[in-house]
Amino acid sequence: MIVVVRLGHRIVRDQRITSHCALVARAFGASKFIYSGDKDTALENSIRNVESRWGQAMEIEYSDNIMKTLRNYKESGYVLIHLTMYGIPVEERIQTLKSLDKMVIIIGGSRVPREIYTISDYNIAIGNQPHSEVAALGIMLHILGKRAEFKNPKLIIIPSENGKRVIRNDLKQ
Ligand code: SAM
Repeated sequence: MIVVVRLGHRIVRDQRITSHCALVARAFGASKFIYSGDKDTALENSIRNVESRWGQAMEIEYSDNIMKTLRNYKESGYVLIHLTMYGIPVEERIQTLKSLDKMVIIIGGSRVPREIYTISDYNIAIGNQPHSEVAALGIMLHILGKRAEFKNPKLIIIPSENGKRVIRNDLKQ
């Protein structure tokens, strides 16, 4: 079970990047996406709209007290993994991380509070250079290699060498 936490969402500046984080989380195995910062109904609706068209795999939730949310997950057996360029290179922890059943992957925003580093069980770097929460999350989930089941999709892609093939599952007899 993978939960992704996105810290410090700002409606005006982060709408696109937070929505990309949520789409990456959904596509690569997370079953829940929790964000803190500004509550953003448009963000939630856009992810739920993707879920209704492409299949249900992930819930989206807002937390107005992210430290409490993280403590609750930790107490119920989840391992907290914070992605940060200051952490230990992921290559050094792959086997341990892959063996976990329940985890919360935390990605930051413009400024990450110190207590996130201390509450986390692992502070993990995807390379020790600054880049993007979208890239860090995508690479981490790809390494973990877990895939979601997309339930009741209206649209299903038929992989194609030379174009777009999509079937309308909701129109099937
Ligand atoms: N100073 C930040 C840090 O601690 O990584 C960089 C801010 S970056 C705009 C926003 C988020 O992207 C970070 O909080 C982190 O979750 C993720 N991120 C950026 N570079 C990363 C890296 N090399 N490894 C892991 N995560 C990274």
